Amino acid sequence: MNTLSTGHTHIPTTDIAIIGAGLAGSLCAHLLSQMGQSVCLIDKSRGSGGRASSKRLEGNVSCDLGLPYIVIKHPDTIQLFKQLTEEHIAAPWKQLSHENEQAFVGVPRMSAITRYWGQNAKFITGTRIHHLDQIMPQDETESSWLLRDDKYQPVVIAKKIIITAPAPQAASILASNDKLAVLLLRANQASSSYQSQWSMWLETAPSDLNALLEPQNSLIKRMIKDNYKPMRQDEKIDRWVIQTDPNWTKQHLDADKEWITQTLVQTFADITEHRVLKHGEPHRWLLSQFTENKGNKAFAWSPEHNVGLAGDWLYQGDAEGAVLSAMSLVKQIQDTK
Ligand SMILES: Cc1cc2nc3c(=O)[nH]c(=O)nc-3n(C[C@H](O)[C@H](O)[C@H](O)COP(=O)(O)OP(=O)(O)OC[C@H]3O[C@@H](n4cnc5c(N)ncnc54)[C@H](O)[C@@H]3O)c2cc1C
Repeated sequence: MNTLSTGHTHIPTTDIAIIGAGLAGSLCAHLLSQMGQSVCLIDKSRGSGGRASSKRLEGNVSCDLGLPYIVIKHPDTIQLFKQLTEEHIAAPWKQLSHENEQAFVGVPRMSAITRYWGQNAKFITGTRIHHLDQIMPQDETESSWLLRDDKYQPVVIAKKIIITAPAPQAASILASNDKLAVLLLRANQASSSYQSQWSMWLETAPSDLNALLEPQNSLIKRMIKDNYKPMRQDEKIDRWVIQTDPNWTKQHLDADKEWITQTLVQTFADITEHRVLKHGEPHRWLLSQFTENKGNKAFAWSPEHNVGLAGDWLYQGDAEGAVLSAMSLVKQIQDTK
């Protein structure tokens, strides 16, 4: 990346700035880097992954507190995950796969996928983009974008921007510049269609319970044995990740964390008849999944402003949708070059 001097500061410049390093943002970074573009990936968190990130526990152990596995049906994503499997970045989870739907996980953890896709981009972490200013750098004929953080500090100057933050967060970035009103409308439309979930890891003695349990009529929606995923076998314990039912979550979104912890541990023990030996803190995913955005394009692109949107909320509302949305947006950018 080059730098541009404006007054006292040197601001890095790049062809494309991507806001959000989840599945959609990291894949855009991977595909655009392969096309020879300089890419800057920016995320408000400490690392990549977004909702497909992993939580580090003691030692070198981690577990997937968000997306537990990705179900692949589309020919384009089948091809992509075949390549990731060959590179030992992902692996099929055969126990959860069916004839027309293959389940995949990252190895040794889910965040390996976004880390791999983002490796050729300049990655700025711990930075929340808040403001987009259109500028005309000296000696340039085309305008560029100056991205600023939530303290109004300049972060990077880019010719193009891709926003992959979830709809409400994308809307708040787009609202900072009135030229982006059409994109803002699309983000606002999708902003109310999300669900929330609590998730938590816990450990029990090894058992022969299935790798995935979906209890009926329970506040727990899913229980996933994280150590049963490919390349993670741990003989000494079973490590579970449990996720709450979205309707129950809605009623207990602001409940005391200690109460949530006790309720989840007790419910888990009642269902499995296994004593919980150890557990983590519950994590609240305010925006865990979006409703399928039917009838709309899988991405949004404004050729006039060189700003685009990708992410699960633009297509299918799930992890595979985030991947397909990113692929379609990059294809559009490639076609309009
Ligand atoms: C508990 C849980 C269970 C799930 N289960 C499933 C499942 O079974 N199957 C399935 O298909 N999907 C599931 N999902 C959903 C799946 O994880 C998402 O669809 C997918 O990961 C979305 O990827 P994305 O790149 O579109 O968005 P994200 O992963 O949300 O990435 C967006 C990134 O943008 C960053 N960001 C936001 N605002 C800013 C800003 N202003 N500046 C800088 N960075 C910003 C965020 O930190 C984040 O890293 C689940 C999600 C959760 C949380």
